[in-house]
Amino acid sequence: MIYFDNVSKIYGDHTAALDNITFRVDPKEFVSIVGQSGAGKTTLIKMILGEEKPTYGAVYFEETDIHALKKTDLNNYRRRIGTVFQDFRLLAHKNVYENIAFAMEAAGRSEEEIAVDVPHVLELVDLGNKIWNFPHQLSGGEKQRVAIARAIVNQPDIIIADEPTGNLDPVNTYEIIQILKKINDLGTTVILTTHNKGVIDSLGRRVVTMENGKIVRDDTSGKYML
Ligand code: ADP
Repeated sequence: MIYFDNVSKIYGDHTAALDNITFRVDPKEFVSIVGQSGAGKTTLIKMILGEEKPTYGAVYFEETDIHALKKTDLNNYRRRIGTVFQDFRLLAHKNVYENIAFAMEAAGRSEEEIAVDVPHVLELVDLGNKIWNFPHQLSGGEKQRVAIARAIVNQPDIIIADEPTGNLDPVNTYEIIQILKKINDLGTTVILTTHNKGVIDSLGRRVVTMENGKIVRDDTSGKYML
């Protein structure tokens, strides 16, 4: 589904942020990317989103070279990816319903579809009772569940979750990971970056370990050793 073909990224005259990376993510996989700060995780995610171009090599989505796409095609491609970040990125002046509706409007969905899908997707993240709350009335874990609902509402092929539990306590971390697992079980590919060893161990899925821009381990069974 995603294929990195000998990808290197060199920012300015720095050392390589990505150093000759070759790896594949298959449809419906749940892949965790781990590594210390500066290892290259964010750069790798930006490559998949088409936000940074490789200095060498190419990144493919299915048969398409992402970085050869024209602007309109790149935007269409990005709609196939839902994103979740550590800092939630909710719109503070919109309630939960409106935050999710906004993502649907941007994708050209009708008011009728929005009225049906928003409550449905909130049930999926177990937040049906907070539909009219504003972000400041939600806990961190609840905010992240809204962000996940927003990421999945347009039925993307892939969810990219970049340190989604970085601001959460262990109980909320566990809940968020369970929700991502559920989404993966429903057929969506999930790519997760995390520092959290507990998360990785509890998942028991593929773990790709990065160090200095290189992939140094790729474990299907899910081990995290730094
Ligand atoms: P991680 O997400 O694992 O912390 P990053 O991908 O953010 O790692 O960074 C990898 C390396 O690339 C680091 O050495 C970082 O300083 C460098 N880097 C990242 N983004 C830029 C940039 N825009 N300009 C210059 N160097 C960068």
